[in-house]
Amino acid sequence: MSVIRQNLQAVRQRITDAANSAQRDVHEVELLAVSKTFGADAVLAAAEAGQRAFGENYLQEALDKMDAVRAIRPDLPLEWHFIGPVQSNKTRPIAEHFDWVHAVDREKIAHRLSEQRPATLPPLNICLQVNISGEASKSGALPADAPGLAKAIAKLPHLRLRGLMAIPEPEDDEVRQRRSFHQLRVLYEQLRAEGLPLDTLSMGMSADMPAAIAEGATIVRIGSAIFGTRNYAK
Ligand SMILES: *Cc1c(COP(=O)(O)O)cnc(C)c1O
Repeated sequence: MSVIRQNLQAVRQRITDAANSAQRDVHEVELLAVSKTFGADAVLAAAEAGQRAFGENYLQEALDKMDAVRAIRPDLPLEWHFIGPVQSNKTRPIAEHFDWVHAVDREKIAHRLSEQRPATLPPLNICLQVNISGEASKSGALPADAPGLAKAIAKLPHLRLRGLMAIPEPEDDEVRQRRSFHQLRVLYEQLRAEGLPLDTLSMGMSADMPAAIAEGATIVRIGSAIFGTRNYAK
């Protein structure tokens, strides 16, 4: 059995365990396999093991990988999520080639993605990235700006605002991990109470997944626990 298949099984088991301890339905938690820095072979191995949703951070790398995967397995219905920061000069290929974008934090970027989303495709699924751990991290909208931004994005015709995303500062302590995720959850519930039809909390990575699931994550973005340690020098 391939290592990737084994790792995927272990991650799925951890998701099930975390959902059970949180008394949540495991089907509410989707596993996004973050394949950045790994090749088409790794995506194909995960797909063979039943994985369908993949997350990528680097545009050109992702486009090359999609082509390579399609050349070998054009029949696989994979879903591609762009999870990296979005630069405004890269919005067109992102709008054309992805199903989801997780790290939208400015109205300008959202406008461009909506304008550039091909009319032949369904609306592009969007998460608004929120900076919940304060000054250390530079990306993400301020929590105070999130309601206004979310309402503006929700009006754009070729986008579908699905929810919120965060990348909290790394923390070893699960209580602290939960505190950050809880803040995102509270904001999410507030926006839903204000009438936005959100269904997605994109939070939790390899090192803090159980805490994210305990606080209501509906998409966990898992890379190294599936594919191994990343080598950025390659
Ligand atoms: C790389 C990355 C992940 C996956 O991180 P791991 O620690 O390898 O699970 C998740 N989300 C984002 C935004 C990333 O850039």
